[in-house]
Amino acid sequence: MPAPAKLVDVASLSREKLALFLSEQLGERPFRAAQLYRWLHQRGATSFDEMTDLSKALREKLKVKAEIVPLVKDLEQRSVDGTIKYRFKTRDGRFIESVYMPAEDRKTLCVSTQVGCAMACSFCMTGTLGLKRNLTPGEIVAQVHAVNREVRRNENLETLRPLTNLVFMGMGEPLHNFENLKTALAILQSEEGPNFSHRHITVSTVGLVPMIERFGQETDVKLAISLNASTDEQRSKTMPVNRKWNIQALLDACRKFPLRQGRRITFEYVLLKGFNDTDEDAHRLRELLRDIPAKVNLIPYNENPGLGFQTTGEQRAEEFRAILAEAHVAAYIRKNRGRDIAGACGQLANRDETAAEAPV
Ligand code: SF4
Repeated sequence: MPAPAKLVDVASLSREKLALFLSEQLGERPFRAAQLYRWLHQRGATSFDEMTDLSKALREKLKVKAEIVPLVKDLEQRSVDGTIKYRFKTRDGRFIESVYMPAEDRKTLCVSTQVGCAMACSFCMTGTLGLKRNLTPGEIVAQVHAVNREVRRNENLETLRPLTNLVFMGMGEPLHNFENLKTALAILQSEEGPNFSHRHITVSTVGLVPMIERFGQETDVKLAISLNASTDEQRSKTMPVNRKWNIQALLDACRKFPLRQGRRITFEYVLLKGFNDTDEDAHRLRELLRDIPAKVNLIPYNENPGLGFQTTGEQRAEEFRAILAEAHVAAYIRKNRGRDIAGACGQLANRDETAAEAPV
């Protein structure tokens, strides 16, 4: 018996590819693609049966040829500061995490792009997992739809899209899954979809230099660089990617990056006590960034068991910031969000995913 035909994951298709699929595979007219796309990405529908303004016949045809791959909320943990960490289960039994961070003026979601991560940064729990697989565009976008649903329900909101900002700083290196990221961004920014502005989306990378160039040419969202060191020696110790593309290569790519007017590149700098937080580090850092339109986010480290680094104290962080400010480098000490639920930077590594790989 021939194997059953593979179903098309319609939530992973760009708007154009969805229209092609409907016309070529189902013989449908173009306006049906607009209807289906809006159900998928404006309303975040998770089944064809919800799509009540599509005829029953079309819904049945869709079920034969297509599917909406589920991403199921598996766990949620609430921090005292209002942050909520969601854990989602993929259809193949993997787990990923997304972190919701509400503030007065914005509601931000930190989105994952891979299951695990290949970059092996030594201060990061996700890095200890290794890379399991890339997330599909549908799975990347589904995190946003799922959390929009949760926020609507929890906060009793009518609006379809309560989330205002997205940061791609969750599990995985976004530029290591660039094609799927790009499709996901196009969906998230589309007017018939969630319609996020490019000004409200930031993608963070450890510095995959050739991909930074493509990212600048092929998308229009904001760039953040996870720098975390002031010398190559330091950076190569904690971020293996630096052995391939060192600080100079990375900053050259930043200088060439096509920045929109008035925009700056954000440099994230996780402060590690006694490792990269001295006065000399601050002086070197400001020199490195001298000719780049930059903003520095100083991130107090969230200690992880077994990784061996310690948090820089508040006073040291402020002294470090002041040295940057003296040279007119805009620097901010970021508040720790969700630290009590292991939802802060570098802490995303759900236990089940680790356990699944542990030898028995
Ligand atoms: S810091 Fe980011 S890139 Fe580095 S291991 Fe963690 S998830 Fe991967």
